[in-house]
Amino acid sequence: MLTKAPKGTKDVLPQESYKWHYIEDTIREITRSFGYSEIRTPVFEHTELFVRSVGDTTDIVRKEMFTFEDKGHRSLTLRPEGTAGVVRAYIEHNLYADLQPAKLYYIAPCFRHERPQAGRLREFHQFGIEAFGGKEASLDAEIIALAVTLFERLGIKGLKTGINSIGCPECRPKYHETLREFLKSNLDGLCAVCRERFEKNPLRILDCKEDKCKEVVKNVPCMLDNLCDDCRVHFDELTSYLDAADIKYVVDPMIVRGLDYYTKTVFEIVSDSLGAQSTVCGGGRYDRLVEECGGPSVPGVGFGLGLERLLLIMEAQGIEAGKPCVCDAYIAALGDQARHKAFEILQRLRGMGISADMDHAGRSLKAQFRYADKQGARFVCTLGDNELAAGEIQVKNMAAGTAVNVPIDAIGTYLKEQLGGIEK
Ligand code: ATP
Ligand code: MG
Repeated sequence: MLTKAPKGTKDVLPQESYKWHYIEDTIREITRSFGYSEIRTPVFEHTELFVRSVGDTTDIVRKEMFTFEDKGHRSLTLRPEGTAGVVRAYIEHNLYADLQPAKLYYIAPCFRHERPQAGRLREFHQFGIEAFGGKEASLDAEIIALAVTLFERLGIKGLKTGINSIGCPECRPKYHETLREFLKSNLDGLCAVCRERFEKNPLRILDCKEDKCKEVVKNVPCMLDNLCDDCRVHFDELTSYLDAADIKYVVDPMIVRGLDYYTKTVFEIVSDSLGAQSTVCGGGRYDRLVEECGGPSVPGVGFGLGLERLLLIMEAQGIEAGKPCVCDAYIAALGDQARHKAFEILQRLRGMGISADMDHAGRSLKAQFRYADKQGARFVCTLGDNELAAGEIQVKNMAAGTAVNVPIDAIGTYLKEQLGGIEK
């Protein structure tokens, strides 16, 4: 037990952490060009926040939360998703008093007590976007464009962006009635969970993964055909903005999303490289959420994008996620005096932005060379008594197999020059 990580968690080992850096760097670059700033919120929040915002009819709140009591008997929960905490922070720090829309993003671990399988973990990481204070459909289109841009920049293919509208408190209750009317005669054909949903939230029945429920909802009337004027206009504007930017999408009336807080726009991006867990990004508009959490009436729109699933897609498509960090210069030193000189040179090289290393394990010169080669060092610099006496260091270009002697004082500028011509 001591040497095994908890079920559903994954270590990111040194051999693969560069992939995470690559994805995170790309995310930071793209969010910056879209005008989004990072927000960091706590890993745990008061349980009540998630119950209120995510909704007590959702799978997350009903069965997936990691909830515990602190020493003061307060109920806390590890964040199962990112929106609730960001909404809480937005209200707590009066961010609505600043320039609006507030365009925020986060890269954060999330926790859900689910059955672990490919693409489904108990601790996973989300890149999320939340934009508050913009009611225009151009903002919905912008966040979809942002997600699509990320996938494009990473070279991912074969994605499908599905969009839908699930209406608002104006038109959804009427649609619920229409839906109940349609489903009423077929209640026995639904699974137990959906029979419960029938009263509380019949829209969610459209989202059920059970075959028998899928059969029942086959010809169900669509929310899209039952939108109020405001929601209809909003949806039409969304599609026209997406068209204007040439962003491909399909209208999918079966997308309802698993969270209770959505209004109007909902969307999902799915990949054909993921098998059963095909959704990599999901989001939508939540115009009532800030108010429901105790803030002013401010509209919002956002998405969550699973980074483990993103990496799985890249792996399946053979896309290289960046390159591991390579040592530019390894100093192989022999003898006490040479080791001290090497240590001094290292400090100088690192200060110039050259990644440099030396032996710390008492290896022979030959073993130091082997180690440097295994590390993929571009240059190996040898420093022994002879070199020290001559004030020089021997520099070997490992790819070319050539070696030259360079004055010790000039080693930094020499390496800088040489490395300039090597693509990292
Ligand atoms: P699913 O239908 O796969 O359960 P979800 O609707 O519960 O997904 P969201 O709450 O919308 O997912 O979260 C956004 C994204 O976070 C998902 O599209 C997915 O990429 C990722 N995600 C959600 N749950 C997990 C998990 N348990 N493990 C890994 N990634 C996850
Ligand atoms: Mg889920």
